Amino acid sequence: MFSSAVNIMIDFINVSKVYNGTDVKALDDVNLHIDKGEFVFIVGSSGAGKSTFLKTIIREEVPTSGEIIFDGESLNLMKPRKVPYYRRKLGIVFQDFRLIQTKTVYDNVAFAMHVIGAPQKDISRRVAYALSLVGLSAKAKSYPNQLSGGEQQRVALARALVNEADVIIADEPTGNIDPEMSKDIVDLLEQINLNRGTTIIMVTHEVELISKYNKRVIEIKNGHIISDTAHPEVFENAEAANEAAANTPSGYYHAPTEDAEIEKFLMNYGNEAQPDSETAQEDA
Ligand code: ADP
Repeated sequence: MFSSAVNIMIDFINVSKVYNGTDVKALDDVNLHIDKGEFVFIVGSSGAGKSTFLKTIIREEVPTSGEIIFDGESLNLMKPRKVPYYRRKLGIVFQDFRLIQTKTVYDNVAFAMHVIGAPQKDISRRVAYALSLVGLSAKAKSYPNQLSGGEQQRVALARALVNEADVIIADEPTGNIDPEMSKDIVDLLEQINLNRGTTIIMVTHEVELISKYNKRVIEIKNGHIISDTAHPEVFENAEAANEAAANTPSGYYHAPTEDAEIEKFLMNYGNEAQPDSETAQEDA
């Protein structure tokens, strides 16, 4: 099972997106290749198309024209009922954390594993490990509102990585936390990338923050990619990633679930916890 995921790549082929009722090209003829194990910053000013770019990767939006291929599969052609299964390959981190306020730190992370039908014995072991990776073992019994913004984002990161996601997508993950903590979050993403081979795609407008890292930076403006600094390190990471993936136990991507609440969680990615969220509910 996992072997098919070893070489996961993401390709954008002539992708454009025009939202219904508008004539603005939120994405305009985007061509792009992201290899397994890359760490990519996506930058651009407000309205440039960054969120739209991420939404097409998580299959919340479908291109108006062009095609996106993930791990050899066209996301355009993916049937809606397959989307929750597809999203099991992704860990998603949002600016507003999207933790479930009524659950403890431990249960927020464990919930992501319940959702995919993981066995109980794996849940306790892996949640403990994920919390230790983000340095929050001591806060396992706390509730989100007892934590700082940076700590809440670390819980969200633990949730994103507990299922061995192939790709972590982080949408302005440092947007709501103070600058010192911001660097901690990106450092953690970097560790996950280097140690586990997870592909990281992070949207940010914090140019000063990303200048501290030697990573690929893709700049979007008016829906176009206007620069892309693919870096040789990328290729070294891709090799390490393939090795790491080959040594990683298989995920639970194929564990079927009939539980409507769980499928809803995977469709909405925790949006029901924050019904006001703007990024919630468009589907093409
Ligand atoms: P960014 O994330 O870089 O701020 P977005 O991807 O959100 O940019 O937006 C790109 C363009 O698409 C903007 O012109 C924005 O107004 C438009 N847009 C985004 N979402 C929608 C939507 N749901 N309906 C209509 N237009 C949208």
